[in-house]
Amino acid sequence: MPAIDTERVVETADPPATRALGERLGRVARPGDVIAVTGDLGAGKTELAKGFGVGLDVAEVISSPSFVLMAEHPGRIPFFHLDLYRLDGPDEAVLGGLLDEREGDGVTLVEWADRLRDELPAGRLDVAIEILPGERRRVVLRASDARHRAYLEVA
Ligand code: ADP
Ligand code: MG
Repeated sequence: MPAIDTERVVETADPPATRALGERLGRVARPGDVIAVTGDLGAGKTELAKGFGVGLDVAEVISSPSFVLMAEHPGRIPFFHLDLYRLDGPDEAVLGGLLDEREGDGVTLVEWADRLRDELPAGRLDVAIEILPGERRRVVLRASDARHRAYLEVA
């Protein structure tokens, strides 16, 4: 079982609650952070990302950047929002180009992060969303290094 200070489990009752969780996470985001979000289609990854943008004071509407793979939104710090849903098969060239040094100036949130495989940075916050009956969602947050533990305190 993981140590208590590296993991938190929260449940949200409806979409606004998932957005509110994302907003709390966005408020404490710092340059260089990576948020790796996983969960089935419709789990609420984009809902969480929308709230995260609010927490970063992003003024633009955040939608699913499925066709461009990555959207960059100006905010308190730059918000790099990746959605790898349409990435079919391990295309190393594409994967390698998605994470570059520019993202060190902002925070990167990746939907379908499991598709990044080995390209995913070792230091990150993993957010796994599980669909429960009705509108409930179980959200498991796991920090893989000390800096990403800040998120667990606000989750
Ligand atoms: P994903 O990006 O994981 O595919 P979305 O965030 O686009 O999922 O969509 C989630 C869908 O599930 C939305 O239609 C939303 O209204 C619905 N939903 C129901 N309950 C919740 C909840 N607790 N949290 C987030 N979304 C929820
Ligand atoms: Mg999505």
